[in-house]
Amino acid sequence: MNNDIQQQDCQCQCGATKFTITGKPIVRVFCHCTICQAFNHAAYSDVTIFLAKDVHLQDKNQVRFKQYKSPPAVDRGKCASCDKPALELFELPLFPSLAMVPSENIPSGAFLPEPSAHIFYHRAVAPIDDQLPKHNGFIKSQAMLGAKLVPGLFRKLLGTQ
Ligand SMILES: [Zn+2]
Ligand SMILES: [Zn+2]
Repeated sequence: MNNDIQQQDCQCQCGATKFTITGKPIVRVFCHCTICQAFNHAAYSDVTIFLAKDVHLQDKNQVRFKQYKSPPAVDRGKCASCDKPALELFELPLFPSLAMVPSENIPSGAFLPEPSAHIFYHRAVAPIDDQLPKHNGFIKSQAMLGAKLVPGLFRKLLGTQ
């Protein structure tokens, strides 16, 4: 990875929604929850998680946000032009606001890490044959996110990222 890259320009699949990422990714996961399945029209989502403050949407009117109540409370945004997932914002108790970016909206490079795990795997529509850890259930999936989040946060707070 190139540590010199300070920011990354990203966009949705049609290019109408543009945003800039200015902080390191926390973790990239495959999420099998039913909301991700419906939102992505796919068996699972491939998302990379950042601190929400590190993700800067150029034109908020370009994204249509819809709230999903199931835990955690997530604002899921689709591009107003292509209707594909653009950006999702969510809150976990005790954590700063987070942004989930569909990994396909991030060019390969320092801001797109290798996937770390499958989460909400109990909802998987088909078994996945890979070597990644697979976390079932909301609590375990959230605990896995927390474990990934906290060391990253400490590095950020200490400015030693
Ligand atoms: Zn999900
Ligand atoms: Zn679009």
